[in-house]
Amino acid sequence: AKTLRLILGDQLNSNHSWYQHKNDNVTYIMLEVMQEQEYVKHHVQKILAFFAAMRNFAHQLTKKGHQVIYLKLNDEDNQQDFEQNLKRIIKKEDFSRFEYQLPDEYRLDEQLKSICHSLTIDTGVADTEHFFTERLDVQNFFGHKKRYLMESFYRHMRNKLHILMQGDDPLGNRWNFDADNRKKYDGKVPLEDAITFDHDVTALKEMVDRMGVKYFGNVDAEHFPWPLSRQEALKSLQYFCHNLLPYFGTYEDAMLQEHISLFHSRLSFAQNVKMISPVEIVTKVLSHYEQNKDTISLAQVEGYIRQVIGWREFMRGVYWAQMPDFESLNFLNHKTEIPHWYWDGNTKMNCLHKCIGQSLDHAWAHHIQRLMVIGNFSMLAGINPDDVDAWYLGVYIDAIQWVEITNTRGMSQFADGGIIGSKPYASSAAYINKMSDYCKHCHYDYKKKVGDRACPFNSLYWNFFERNAEKLLNNPRIGMAYVTLKKMKPEEKALLMEQAEKYLGDLNGL
Ligand code: FAD
Ligand code: SF4
Repeated sequence: AKTLRLILGDQLNSNHSWYQHKNDNVTYIMLEVMQEQEYVKHHVQKILAFFAAMRNFAHQLTKKGHQVIYLKLNDEDNQQDFEQNLKRIIKKEDFSRFEYQLPDEYRLDEQLKSICHSLTIDTGVADTEHFFTERLDVQNFFGHKKRYLMESFYRHMRNKLHILMQGDDPLGNRWNFDADNRKKYDGKVPLEDAITFDHDVTALKEMVDRMGVKYFGNVDAEHFPWPLSRQEALKSLQYFCHNLLPYFGTYEDAMLQEHISLFHSRLSFAQNVKMISPVEIVTKVLSHYEQNKDTISLAQVEGYIRQVIGWREFMRGVYWAQMPDFESLNFLNHKTEIPHWYWDGNTKMNCLHKCIGQSLDHAWAHHIQRLMVIGNFSMLAGINPDDVDAWYLGVYIDAIQWVEITNTRGMSQFADGGIIGSKPYASSAAYINKMSDYCKHCHYDYKKKVGDRACPFNSLYWNFFERNAEKLLNNPRIGMAYVTLKKMKPEEKALLMEQAEKYLGDLNGL
């Protein structure tokens, strides 16, 4: 049958079985559409990276002799959504079969099912051949449990894939090296530059501008730094193993104002658009470790493997187990509008100024910046999770809903009431000061809870627990906060709450 096969922008897996044989009856189609620019406002680097990587991918497929239809955003006959474009092309070229790969987003999954339903030709769907697990594996693993514990899923994965195992036991007799890891950066080892590339994407940006795509964030289009091809993704992985892996775990939670990525791999974009697979990443990291045990400790490697076979697969599984309900969960009933400085970084709180500024400049921040600075503040301040999700889904180059919403609404905002994390990731200034150098350069005083220049994180932290006592008091993992609140002198508590109310009343002015 004359077949049309759709490749979505995050399905750039050149090792997919689809491409192993050339077939004159098969045509691939890739579409740049306004539909995908408008479901949320994106960072300009995210738009450019997706389009540039898609164009590269199409070019590679054509070079290998496959037939490819590529619709650019500004092509005259582009109808700007998947359904209309597909229907027009199927009719015009007389295709008798339509196939697609399982989308990772619920929204697109529904849309493609509905398109297939309304087509009069045969349709079929293939796996993306990217993840270690299937969509419903996590759901099946936890059954009807209310809480999903990442650690038990992770151990199951280690066993199942036989990664870092010694028979049935974990290598080194420990599943978790967190106690050795997660140090503040102490200058004991030199920092390495992040690997960057140097693409000129000015023509692409001009096209996006001409089309009136609404975006935010900053870009140097003449020197675009992100990996845009499989080859560059492989180079990034190689660079990571040689230069960053030896200290990845040790400093994975550290933050520095003059070095945005420390020892992080920055592979999330390449991985999420599937230019490189988690299987390849894990295989390479493990073999590199095998050959370099004198310079790389097990703790570093375990820390990294946990992110890829643990967190990443886990989040995807939670997504498919919980959508579409997950999208509207708001356990803490947070309703405050997002402060305007999320869009320009203009706040006197130095940690947020730096982390948001960095996100706007680079479309990237590392896990702890996302979780313990921006996410933590958003939750303490009671920002509406819809606003928080829209911001995260727009700003990060790696943000695709399956991995964005689970991390944001679930892990960082506790809006799921504890499906993903057993307690809210709330902290006062002490944690930020311990893990970063932000406080040293701040207008606010991290040691002060009340009064002039008291760090907002401190009073907001206690206000958060106080105002949510009904919902959180019985959580066994938060006991200490309530013990402390109970012991607090009434005058002291009143002052703290007053300070918090003052800040909450003027979030835009912080
Ligand atoms: P590294 O620190 O080098 O980690 C290696 C890899 O592990 C990453 O590339 C990623 O694939 C995986 N990984 C690590 N942590 C997680 C996690 N919590 N969930 C899923 N995969 C993980 N990641 C995204 O890919 N897209 C998002 O939209 C996204 N939004 C986030 C929002 C919040 C509030 C938080 C707390 C985290 C979010 N993350 C997201 C997870 C994590 O912050 C990023 O994957 C990471 O910062 C990407 O940089 P890296 O490749 O250098 O990661
Ligand atoms: Fe952030 Fe408070 Fe530290 Fe300032 S003092 S950098 S606001 S934690």
